[in-house]
Amino acid sequence: MIVILGAGLAGLSAALHLKESEYLIFEREGEVGGLCRSVVQDGFTFDYTGHLLHLQHPYTQRLLEELLPELPLRHQRRAAIYIAGKYIPYPFQANLWALPKEMTRECLLGYIQSYYGDAQGGEDFLSWIYQAFGPGIAKYFMIPYNEKLWKIPLQEISLEWVNGFVPRPTLEEVIDGALGVNRKGFGYNQEFFYPMQGGIKTLPQALLSRIKDVQLGREVESIDIMERAVRFHDGNDVTYHTLISSLPLDELLQRVVNLPEEIKNLITNLRYVSVLNINLGVKRALISNYHWIYYPEPSYPFYRLGFPSNLSPLMAPEGTSSLSVEISYLPPIPSSLDEVRKRTFSSLISCGILRDDDEILAEKMLMVKHAYVIYDPFRHQHLPRILQFLRSKHIYPIGRYGLWGYATMEEALLQGKDMAEGLS
Ligand SMILES: Cc1cc2nc3c(=O)[nH]c(=O)nc-3n(C[C@H](O)[C@H](O)[C@H](O)COP(=O)(O)OP(=O)(O)OC[C@H]3O[C@@H](n4cnc5c(N)ncnc54)[C@H](O)[C@@H]3O)c2cc1C
Repeated sequence: MIVILGAGLAGLSAALHLKESEYLIFEREGEVGGLCRSVVQDGFTFDYTGHLLHLQHPYTQRLLEELLPELPLRHQRRAAIYIAGKYIPYPFQANLWALPKEMTRECLLGYIQSYYGDAQGGEDFLSWIYQAFGPGIAKYFMIPYNEKLWKIPLQEISLEWVNGFVPRPTLEEVIDGALGVNRKGFGYNQEFFYPMQGGIKTLPQALLSRIKDVQLGREVESIDIMERAVRFHDGNDVTYHTLISSLPLDELLQRVVNLPEEIKNLITNLRYVSVLNINLGVKRALISNYHWIYYPEPSYPFYRLGFPSNLSPLMAPEGTSSLSVEISYLPPIPSSLDEVRKRTFSSLISCGILRDDDEILAEKMLMVKHAYVIYDPFRHQHLPRILQFLRSKHIYPIGRYGLWGYATMEEALLQGKDMAEGLS
């Protein structure tokens, strides 16, 4: 029997693509979707922070066309960075024209100097920022934004993830961007899709309709690798010949009994940041025209705001807007959530997103425990060994946190598919 643990996108996709019908799929929560879920609060629909579909692969494009009951909305990104009281179009490094003139000059000059310089920095994220963008862009955006998001010194972050996620315009494009004659789009997320109604949970719900029943409310307590058995919190066991797991890798390892000391000692060094997501429904139409805005300045507690009501008009009642605030932290959960909430509200007013007299119609706080895996030298060195050990015991991790990476929804779907097809 093939057993699949976790019914997020990766687990559901594995089930969908298994030729063998002899599988069981177990999920801890009362519904499928994992991180790709949505909640409805007082007429507003909120995701676990904005989940936008970036589709690169023809296979996933076809799959979504087949799965979703109606065509998703297609959007051209409207994103900005809020600095010095101005909105700089995203990406910052290609839109220096929008900064105050002195800052434009400093960023451009620094970029050109670093471009022609021969700085040989280390193989860490901070050195890379200076080499790739120069000290001005580093100072105003790259360093404060990334320090706010990652919560650790940027020297501790390695580089495997940056190419796909940090746009790197050419010298000509940076100069054009400083002159305001930039017409080109940058980055993997210039265009995206979003379901017309129901929020992003429409996607896992559609997958669910194509597979055998998922056993909900079944939390894995332990895994015996000798007996090849999974024990659940309800005390029941199930045996497997192959185990596909989309559980976060650290939590999977914690549950394996008889784990060799050598692997056990690695668990606490798998680092990640968590996200506190405060969602608000506001009684005012179009509080912002953007899809999302980045906030690098330390005076604001959040690193990003998203506007679900700009993704689909059906995300919020007519005449209202919705807002998704993202604040990152290193685990455990901050003890002073009330303080964080108060500071969030006063910052939303001071940056002009909310007004003093705005009426808040809905409020929903969501927690994303494993939000962003930290790519560091430890991960680089030890992850292959951990995965190899698990595979040797017939346990096959998949998904964003199973493989301990930075996968998008599309990649999670593909990882489930590839695993299932490899086993079939
Ligand atoms: C803040 C944030 C924003 C994001 N935005 C985007 C975006 O805009 N676009 C995009 O493409 N991607 C985005 N992503 C990534 C996207 O969420 C993931 O790629 C995708 O949802 C991962 O699916 P998964 O199945 O791998 O993991 P998960 O969704 O985490 O699924 C794992 C499942 O395992 C279950 N589980 C855990 N422990 C147990 C247990 N002990 N027993 C049983 N079940 C258990 C969980 O409940 C969950 O259902 C974002 C991620 C974050 C954190």
